[in-house]
Amino acid sequence: MRITALAGGIGGARFLRGLRAALGPEDRITVIGNTGDDIHLHGLKVCPDLDTVMYTLGGGIHEEQGWGRADETWSIKEELKAYGVGPDWFGLGDRDFATHIVRTRMLAAGYPLSAVTEALCDRWQPGVRLLPMSDDRVETHVRITDADGSRVVHFQEYWVRLHAAVEAEAIVSVGAEDAKPAPGVLEAIAEADLVLLPPSNPVVSIGTILTVPGIRAAVAAAAAPVVGLSPIVGGAPVRGMADRVLAAVGVETGAAAVARHYGSRRDGGLLDGWLVDSSDAAAVDEVEAAGIACRAVPLLMSSVEATAEMARAALALAAEVSA
Ligand code: GDP
Ligand code: CA
Repeated sequence: MRITALAGGIGGARFLRGLRAALGPEDRITVIGNTGDDIHLHGLKVCPDLDTVMYTLGGGIHEEQGWGRADETWSIKEELKAYGVGPDWFGLGDRDFATHIVRTRMLAAGYPLSAVTEALCDRWQPGVRLLPMSDDRVETHVRITDADGSRVVHFQEYWVRLHAAVEAEAIVSVGAEDAKPAPGVLEAIAEADLVLLPPSNPVVSIGTILTVPGIRAAVAAAAAPVVGLSPIVGGAPVRGMADRVLAAVGVETGAAAVARHYGSRRDGGLLDGWLVDSSDAAAVDEVEAAGIACRAVPLLMSSVEATAEMARAALALAAEVSA
């Protein structure tokens, strides 16, 4: 089977690890990763979501934290602090720095991000083909109003520095309209036997990938079934602040509301099937009424095995909707 998944950081990466465990060695997974979170720090290009997927699947992730490297040390951060050089709110560990140095060097030498990502994955062997959504620069910005007035901040400043504590008034995917999907992205969607939307953030992870011209249309037109899993359980994100960015796009924080936001492929939307958590079984009827096949199963990624079971449920729903 050829499976193509769109993915953000932690939620996407953990799901993909379970998916890989649920599949056989002949199955092929292509991951289209969000690069809207990318940021330049200390002259280096940092791609948090691509790295979270690469480290998680490659066995290098800091397991409890969900991002960054295992067994990390922080000497560079401490030295920068001693120089009074910020930003101090975005932590890059010593091991992690090496990834960003390699990436930045390769980009400076003229390689596109997709080629750089492939080279980094040569080391990590994530067991999936990891493609950035685009080789072009696309950045998620958030419009806020606080004591400094009404302004637009980089997504990382909103999320990491401000902890999404101020209301997000709008989400802007800067540069998206001129961006092209990275080589292989549209083909991976068109040629897949199954397209998956993992329980990643529907606005600033999957939503951002869908702002790259051509990607939304490719998913809507895919020959394969498209099945998604809800990141919202019991009316709240399992982790993170997805409720803040959902509100910014006028979507209620609920498993059914997110499904309706993606929409049914019957009506030009993206989904054939949607999984909600068992605790949200009451949402099934509403999702099905919107033209999306829906099942309620446990959706907490508490272990690789529990996550593999979620992936099996997604495969089963895909088989059902294509029958
Ligand atoms: P990020 O880029 O690191 O924020 O990661 P993603 O966008 O890929 O995933 C973030 C989303 O994952 C959040 O909205 C969480 O609600 C969701 N999430 C995290 N853990 C779980 C889980 O165990 N189950 C489900 N269903 N969603 C989860
Ligand atoms: Ca992210």
